[in-house]
Amino acid sequence: MKKHRTLFITLIVTALVGAGIYNIYRGNGFKEVVRIINDKIGRSKSTSKTKTFNKQQYSVDDPSSQWVIVNKIRPLKPMDYTPAQLVAPDIKLRFDPTYSEMLVSSVIATPLKQLVEGASKDGLSLMLASGYRSYLAQQSIYNISVNDIGQAATDQQNARAGYSEHQTGLAVDMEPTSRHCETENCFADTPEGKWLASNAYKYGFIIRYPQNKQDVTGYSYESWHLRYVGIDLATQMHSSRIETLEEFFGLLNAPNYL
Ligand SMILES: [Zn+2]
Repeated sequence: MKKHRTLFITLIVTALVGAGIYNIYRGNGFKEVVRIINDKIGRSKSTSKTKTFNKQQYSVDDPSSQWVIVNKIRPLKPMDYTPAQLVAPDIKLRFDPTYSEMLVSSVIATPLKQLVEGASKDGLSLMLASGYRSYLAQQSIYNISVNDIGQAATDQQNARAGYSEHQTGLAVDMEPTSRHCETENCFADTPEGKWLASNAYKYGFIIRYPQNKQDVTGYSYESWHLRYVGIDLATQMHSSRIETLEEFFGLLNAPNYL
């Protein structure tokens, strides 16, 4: 009789412990443990990534550097800087390649071609609307705009000579070959605009003037204006969700000229 009772109690205890373990395994307790472990692994991964990314790899001041940061408080030095080698990229161009605005720095010719080919594989057709702008060309664009709409309005949409990324040859305005929404806000909603927003970083380009960052970059959203910074930096900015060069490198906001 005693032997039976002991066996009975042992069975009950085993069943209760088993059910408890099962419940922990199935329940939120276990899921929580898994989540914490994954979180820890993920966090340590991203920490080591951030640590290994060298923010001093290229200069942000040298106008020929692929990381140069030009904005309303950081003019190019010298102001009339000209890239060493300008070439017409081997992609569709808005104008004849004899126009200097159809040129880009030789540094970005291949990445730009790869970007256009990438879009093409997804059934989209992009072309260059505008690339390099010399100091003199920028001066002329700025002055015409000032005469037209005044200086305050011009400063919101056109850079002063010596303050334009286009002068580095590393910036391009892209558009669909149909010219639909050519350098207009609605480009962001076209398939080409959406594709660039999602994929440009894979080819080393960023959307330099993102949405809601006018107080940082000095310019309202320009979904068509790409800036080459190299795949490493573009990918790092994408994965860390830091949209502007100013924020990534901890530089001052540049909403206005000094
Ligand atoms: Zn532009």
